[in-house]
Amino acid sequence: MAENTRIVKNATCTFCGCVCDDMELTVDLDKKVITKAKNACVLGRAWFAEHQIDDRPVAMIDGKEAPLEEAIEEAAQVLVNAKFPITYGLSDTTCEAQKQAVAISDIIRGTIDTTTSVCHGPSGLAFQDIGESTSTLGEVKNRADLVIYWGGNPAESHPRHFRYSVTPKGMFIPNGKKDRTVVMIDVRKTPSAPVADILIQVKPGKDFELLWALRALVKGRKVDPQIQVMTGVPLETMTDLVERMKNCRFGVLFFGMGLTMTRGRHFNSGALLALATDLNEFTHFVAKPVRGHGNVTGADNVVSWQTGYPFGVNFSRGFPRFNPGEFTTVDTLTRGDADAALIIASDPASNFPKAAIEHLKKIPVISLDTKETSTSKLSHVAFATSTYGINTAGTVYRMDDVPIPLRPAFESPYPGDEEILFAIKKRVHELILSKCGATGATGEARVASKLML
Ligand code: SF4
Repeated sequence: MAENTRIVKNATCTFCGCVCDDMELTVDLDKKVITKAKNACVLGRAWFAEHQIDDRPVAMIDGKEAPLEEAIEEAAQVLVNAKFPITYGLSDTTCEAQKQAVAISDIIRGTIDTTTSVCHGPSGLAFQDIGESTSTLGEVKNRADLVIYWGGNPAESHPRHFRYSVTPKGMFIPNGKKDRTVVMIDVRKTPSAPVADILIQVKPGKDFELLWALRALVKGRKVDPQIQVMTGVPLETMTDLVERMKNCRFGVLFFGMGLTMTRGRHFNSGALLALATDLNEFTHFVAKPVRGHGNVTGADNVVSWQTGYPFGVNFSRGFPRFNPGEFTTVDTLTRGDADAALIIASDPASNFPKAAIEHLKKIPVISLDTKETSTSKLSHVAFATSTYGINTAGTVYRMDDVPIPLRPAFESPYPGDEEILFAIKKRVHELILSKCGATGATGEARVASKLML
């Protein structure tokens, strides 16, 4: 072991929505690298290994190194002078930083959206329509005797998810896996299949039809055996599953983007949530989305508790309005509405549709990221920030809405997202107040109250 070594126990991995908080990190403080991440899965190990300190300027304007203060001033000027400024990203930063981003959007009467709009956005809509029968992953571990995964492949996307749902012994599940029935429903046999007791292969794009048939069977209605032609699932398989669902003690439906981002989208999520609700007539049943980014659940929570809505929120009228399809970032960019963008811990320039990226190239972009990305390269103002969980303390929400504190491993020379966003917020506030003074507007009290956030 190197001389200047530090062990950080109970550290948190923020790579995926499992937010495993049982990491034991070995840190070489001289080189500022994590040399070992005990308990991490293969994805977590790569996350910790990749986040070394890069040699980048803390701030750049038009590709040239700039003093931090100058970059903050330029970012604030861009945001205040824009007519339709958008804020996007937020799922890979702390709740404290997310809070500052919402306040900025509110003060400048902009639009705020998160990566939820391109992953579990349909579920966000369905939660508002149907509601969510929910639980923590701890309850699942201790109580669930029927575990159903629908449209997801956790073995590859969330390798340690099974430690809550499949393998562990729980208070009322003393024999672990032996006391549980695990069902996988998907359009194909994935690498997660080996943990399943029952595999159900549904035809692509027919999840809604299968869910609706299951709802009918739960309610005791007759279903035509021809349903197999439509869904690919025999009626006997459906009947067997429904009996298991009604007769378990605690059932859980975990659902992924194979359900939310395929034909039907929020209708699929809504049908699954309604199925869980129906089953509560017979037993205890919950439904939980399996979330991807480390703090995408925090983004939903923070934006919700500050605006009333989880993503795609516009403040242009002075109060929050929620309208996915109108205020979601792919749409505001593709239509050419946005005239400035604040991008936080996200890289839309490498994964958005071409038309959205083309518009992003035409407008002033302000980016905050730990690494150089396609988005930071095209940015008018680019800030290099420290990595949440590795260098920065704060709070993240696990996919079951449980807040988890971060224990950073080593210090970074770069500021955190919260620090930069707070400075931008402060300057934006000053600029708006001076504008109000110049025009005789009376928005001071409103803006001042937002600064308190
Ligand atoms: S499952 Fe996710 S949070 Fe847990 S160690 Fe792996 S990547 Fe990190």
